[in-house]
Amino acid sequence: MTPRVQALVVGGGISGLVCAYALRKAGLDAHLFEASRRPGGVIQSIARDGFLLDLGPQSFSGTASLRALFQDLGISDQIIQAPTHAPRYVIVDGALRPVPLSPPAFFTSSLINVSTKWTLVRDLIGKSAPPDADESVAAFVRRKFSQQLLDRLVGPFVSGVYAGDPERLSLRSAFPSLYEAEKSAGSIIRGMLRASKTKTGPSERPTLLAFRDGNETLIRALSNILGPSLHPGASITGVSVENGGSFDVQFEAHGSSESISTKSLILAAPTNVTGKLLSHLDPSFESLLARMEYAPVAVVSLGYRISDIGHSLDGFGFLVPRSYGLRVLGTVWNSSLFPGRAPEGHALLTSFAGGATDPSAASLPAAALTSLVHREISPILSISSEPVFSNVTVWPLALPQYNLGHSNRLAAVAKLLRNHPGIWLAGNYLRGPAIGSCVEQAMAVADEVREALEK
Ligand SMILES: Cc1cc2nc3c(=O)[nH]c(=O)nc-3n(C[C@H](O)[C@H](O)[C@H](O)COP(=O)(O)OP(=O)(O)OC[C@H]3O[C@@H](n4cnc5c(N)ncnc54)[C@H](O)[C@@H]3O)c2cc1C
Repeated sequence: MTPRVQALVVGGGISGLVCAYALRKAGLDAHLFEASRRPGGVIQSIARDGFLLDLGPQSFSGTASLRALFQDLGISDQIIQAPTHAPRYVIVDGALRPVPLSPPAFFTSSLINVSTKWTLVRDLIGKSAPPDADESVAAFVRRKFSQQLLDRLVGPFVSGVYAGDPERLSLRSAFPSLYEAEKSAGSIIRGMLRASKTKTGPSERPTLLAFRDGNETLIRALSNILGPSLHPGASITGVSVENGGSFDVQFEAHGSSESISTKSLILAAPTNVTGKLLSHLDPSFESLLARMEYAPVAVVSLGYRISDIGHSLDGFGFLVPRSYGLRVLGTVWNSSLFPGRAPEGHALLTSFAGGATDPSAASLPAAALTSLVHREISPILSISSEPVFSNVTVWPLALPQYNLGHSNRLAAVAKLLRNHPGIWLAGNYLRGPAIGSCVEQAMAVADEVREALEK
């Protein structure tokens, strides 16, 4: 007889793990099936030759819901915080220039010319409205502010968060708070100020966090609690509807094909997998979900002797405007932010290449990526010797792109889902790619599943 569970989660990245954890915490018999032997999706850490590396996200913003989750999991004491005032840099005219992080710093910064500064004043005292049509981030910045702001700050920031292309990213999908600010207040600055005043709940300190032993600590804690309800190495291959509205879910594990029945199916895999699995229920799922693009990213970690680096490495790291002509998108100075990332006398620097603006860089062989990154960052940081350590990880589907039309595609998927009660979606393409956003979205889904089962 086919085994039956109350809820089945497909995909054991942070979204699926948190969803399964919240469902089990609510007392439901929820099981999680993860294709890989190692749960966590893009959140992976490794220790080698005295270096401690994160292969995906290097750090994350400490939101209130993340802190609550860490408390619940008993891992709050393993959190470490980056220095709050660590400067972030951007390369302009060949030099690292600090990014202004406060309004006074912005107005005194030489990074931005007077006419760009005036566009902010104009926004504050003037009134504008967003166009009806979906607007790209680049078009928005040019309409409201200036090409210089786009080149020097917004473009690099967009690379840092989405590995995205501002000409294709949708403002209302990728940065909804900016879109809403202009829509509701006729001004980005007034709208943002108003939103921050009306925010309820505990105020969130904008701190950058990581785990002392690497970000996989979070994955291990969730996996341990899930115990035998987590099934690694089990790849879901098909979904069909049974009589009575339950789902028959087929999977492959340990070389054999099996199936399991569930009343609630939560798909927390990337959109290509989710679209394919749901295509048996309605082919439109696949055409809509497959149209969501992902950017590939190569994560290149290099270790150097500190004595071989001329720069002080005092700060978070730097981002590179695309107009500067380098293939490196940015570099994080891990060992300046968190302890234990490099052996005594060494520094660990993690650089990113690829993204939506240069996807082919992520397909280069590991040795080529290592020498490319070393060649490009050496003059910027006055590095005089070859790296003593290197590691390259390529994520072909690193980050979903919230491109033009994204919100319409999501609305169309939500409409289709209304014809298939018992199915939910979770993942980083829905409410933001940040770990905190994935966790909030996954918990909201778990609440919906619980409420539906209680009806
Ligand atoms: C290089 C990089 C840097 C990043 N930096 C940051 C950062 O600094 N801060 C931050 O907050 N966020 C960052 N992010 C984003 C964040 O890490 C991700 O958005 C988030 O971890 C995605 O989690 P997820 O569970 O939605 O998806 P994923 O991690 O992609 O997990 C999906 C899971 O589904 C599984 N799966 C696929 N097919 C099947 C199947 N058929 N059956 C069963 N399982 C299946 C996969 O194996 C995978 O484990 C970064 C991401 C990358 C790649």
